Amino acid sequence: MNFSKDTVVIKSLTNTLKTNKLSHAYLVVGEDSLYSDEFILSFVKAIFCLENKEKNFFSCEKCRNCSSINHGNYVDFYKLTSETSIKKDEIQTLKSDLSVKSFYGKKIYWIKDIEKMTEQAANSLLKFLEEPEDDIIAILSCKNISVVLPTIISRCQQIKLVGKSENDEVETNEELTRLIAEYAKRYIRKPHLANIYILEKIKTKEDIVEFFKHLSIQTTTSYTDNNLHDVVNISKVQEKILLALSDLNSNVNATLVLEKFLFTILLDNNNLEFLLRG
Ligand SMILES: [Zn+2]
Repeated sequence: MNFSKDTVVIKSLTNTLKTNKLSHAYLVVGEDSLYSDEFILSFVKAIFCLENKEKNFFSCEKCRNCSSINHGNYVDFYKLTSETSIKKDEIQTLKSDLSVKSFYGKKIYWIKDIEKMTEQAANSLLKFLEEPEDDIIAILSCKNISVVLPTIISRCQQIKLVGKSENDEVETNEELTRLIAEYAKRYIRKPHLANIYILEKIKTKEDIVEFFKHLSIQTTTSYTDNNLHDVVNISKVQEKILLALSDLNSNVNATLVLEKFLFTILLDNNNLEFLLRG
């Protein structure tokens, strides 16, 4: 992902990395959630990457820490996200998870879309933010800061992101748009056959990367629908696209990445109907 529109933010974060003066809590505000997610993951990787000896805003994407973070199983990194709402008991579970000592000196937790917190959850989080611990860093993210409690905002260092995911810069490729629409149509009728269809149509790594970028644009555009059923499916699919793109970035075999993606879509029975609405 290209973060060139947010170089000021990156400079300031690099400075805190180098001087070891990370804040206890960050509030990342950005309209493009795919971009914000990538940004946050890059920041977390920069903190934990074993190859980032210069302490830059850098991650090698190859070391075991980078790779576990990309796969969502790094031991000192907790992510809380919900399709509907984030409840108080989830915040409490998070707190108790965080009370275990860290493996490498630092623990980071990320609460995504804090707009989704219930009032009780927000209050519970607030208490936690009021008593920061040295080895715990909070990253909260949201699209719309106006609905976040001012008491939470005041306890965080704000990071405002202006960039957008590269996907927006990709020229619309009509052929791919048609291919994806055809895939969605087939998927709704016969998912297995739809997967075979895609695997036959796109084979090279370049095409596979393009496929994911386009799929990502099309799922992002579908967001305007405001249909809860769609929103749930879209966010599930987007998470998988993100993982696939990050695997492709770290040079995992492209066909395998595509197969894994298609297979997990099948497994979760994510309905791709929203792709036909855009
Ligand atoms: Zn690394």
